[in-house]
Amino acid sequence: MPTIFEQIVAGDIPARTVHETETTLAFLDANPLARGHTLVIPKDPYERLDDMPADIASDVFSVVHTLTPAIEQAVDADATTVGINNGESAGQEVPHVHVHIIPRFDGDGGRPIHAVSPDRPDLSDDELDSIQDAVAAET
Ligand code: AMP
Repeated sequence: MPTIFEQIVAGDIPARTVHETETTLAFLDANPLARGHTLVIPKDPYERLDDMPADIASDVFSVVHTLTPAIEQAVDADATTVGINNGESAGQEVPHVHVHIIPRFDGDGGRPIHAVSPDRPDLSDDELDSIQDAVAAET
């Protein structure tokens, strides 16, 4: 079953496209959190960030880099929050990688990206050493 974003890429359902390249598509979010809320996707249906080949990830980020100031300019935003819900446990509803570009306005009452965590873990130096080593060993 193709995701809703694959159906948009195929032209089977409409979207408000704002930018397109050979490998990426950017369109307005259908339920925007702010004026100009935009999604940038790879055209191929990768579910999560690590499913995307590096060159496609690079293409997606390049579009995010180009579009973010363009969107800020277009809707007269003061800033943007840029993020990915990467996996169901992180709140990803559409299983096709998408980067949210959410315009922010002075005094809009929104929270920073730190609001994703209700509690901050209290980590000892030993735990931090171990996490640092574990991540470094995976890369
Ligand atoms: P996420 O929770 O990160 O998976 O976000 C999915 C996003 O896709 C939500 O912000 C939805 O509003 C948006 N969305 C769902 N269907 C469509 C659609 N047909 N066109 C544009 N945006 C959509």
